[in-house]
Amino acid sequence: MASSIKQARSARPVHIVGGGLAGSEAAWQLARAGVPVVLHEMRPVRGTEAHQTDALAELVCSNSFRSDDAANNAVGLLHEEMRRAGSLIMQAADAHKLPAGGALAVDRVGFSAAVQETLLAHPLVELRREEIAGLPPADWDSVIVATGPLTSPALADAIARLSGEESLAFFDAIAPIVHHESIDQTIAWKQSRYDKAGPGGGGADYFNCPMDKAEYDAFVAALLAGDKTEFKQWEHNTPYFSGCQPIEVIAATGPQSLRFGPMKPVGLRDPRTGHRPWAVVQLRQDNALGTLWNIVGFQTKLKHGEQTRIFRTIPGLQNAEFARLGGLHRNTFLNSPRLLDATLRLKAEPRLRFAGQITGCEGYVESAAVGLMTGRFAAAERLGTALSAPPDTTAMGALLGHITGGADAATFQPMNVNFGLFPPIAPSEGGTLRGKERKQALAARALRDFDHWLAPTPLAAE
Ligand SMILES: Cc1cc2nc3c(=O)[nH]c(=O)nc-3n(C[C@H](O)[C@H](O)[C@H](O)COP(=O)(O)OP(=O)(O)OC[C@H]3O[C@@H](n4cnc5c(N)ncnc54)[C@H](O)[C@@H]3O)c2cc1C
Repeated sequence: MASSIKQARSARPVHIVGGGLAGSEAAWQLARAGVPVVLHEMRPVRGTEAHQTDALAELVCSNSFRSDDAANNAVGLLHEEMRRAGSLIMQAADAHKLPAGGALAVDRVGFSAAVQETLLAHPLVELRREEIAGLPPADWDSVIVATGPLTSPALADAIARLSGEESLAFFDAIAPIVHHESIDQTIAWKQSRYDKAGPGGGGADYFNCPMDKAEYDAFVAALLAGDKTEFKQWEHNTPYFSGCQPIEVIAATGPQSLRFGPMKPVGLRDPRTGHRPWAVVQLRQDNALGTLWNIVGFQTKLKHGEQTRIFRTIPGLQNAEFARLGGLHRNTFLNSPRLLDATLRLKAEPRLRFAGQITGCEGYVESAAVGLMTGRFAAAERLGTALSAPPDTTAMGALLGHITGGADAATFQPMNVNFGLFPPIAPSEGGTLRGKERKQALAARALRDFDHWLAPTPLAAE
């Protein structure tokens, strides 16, 4: 064993730039396959606009990995595929999960620490704290770029030049976090939608702040009138990713939009009235101690003073103390359908592979999943073994197919995993199914095909 590690260490390493969710998962997959890795992470030497620590795999905003329902939900299915493929990110998430209804939420500190400790304990992983401020040196023959939506400008510019793009960026927004003791529990009550108990949950995992019609109308009016962060001239045409729109942008699409979006009251009953409120603001536990709670779906580009003023009009949050306010952030991504090949290599320079949000997937789980695939592709290439892409009937394959060719390059925007990316079920296998049954058939087919894909590889979960 010791001699095989020594032998593996002497092989040429794969360099990974960026120790976020994708880079950490890619490093783990490579090391498990016996390939040495040098992981280059610029924090704390250089920070980003959103990261607050120097930990690997830091979660920069929400602490949720979204639904953990592998039978009915595409991201839950992706969780399960990753677990079966021995994912470090899922292992750490499961070990540090918090109650959150049907969602998989994690204690962000424990989660990142677990990822970092596991990687640093592996004899084939070396961590270097440095920024790669341009194209990686020419003698690095296999590189994974996993620098995420906040890729440092020097590297982003170099990649843009190499790929012939004018720019790789657009804009997203993040949600505020509130201190637990400042939530008025005589108004806000704890309940999960439809009392659903998810992984580690008890069916009463969210705080719910109720609004009647007058309160809701006044709130929407305040959002629309609120003072927002101005775009600079050159940013005016920079689009938002639709899954992460600021609440005031959603509110501007119509007076009822928030009631059918992040403020929907379905599955909730206010114990004080015995009825479903007109609208609800939900807060989800953000740390293991339960001292911090994030306002679900409340990404915003309101100015900070306006956020405190307007959010304190929410019943139950009238005395809210904010641990963090929402804000705008850059989102750097490639036009992957045009620029990357089927195993995520840059067509213009195939020694460079890409992973994570920079490939145009969206979300923590998707970023880690693309990291997992990239790590495996790079490992197979280094070891001289064949590895095909996961079938397009699986969540991973569907996501990969979308970003490397399925999406229209002319209108490409970051994408969450969803059942719309999966090929339809054949008529002989129940092609006429609808709704829940259709999702369940797609999920069952995915797991069957995923196991088949994993079977011949030596990298399945140990
Ligand atoms: C502010 C913000 C909020 C978000 N909120 C959510 C959310 O709530 N839920 C969700 O599912 N997704 C969210 N996302 C989207 C996305 O899921 C996360 O950004 C996720 O962390 C992406 O994973 P990644 O590995 O691609 O990038 P990251 O996790 O950001 O990792 C990239 C790493 O590369 C490092 N790096 C950058 N440039 C260099 C360089 N030149 N040299 C060396 N190191 C470098 C960075 O320091 C960072 O550690 C958010 C994104 C942002 C920016």
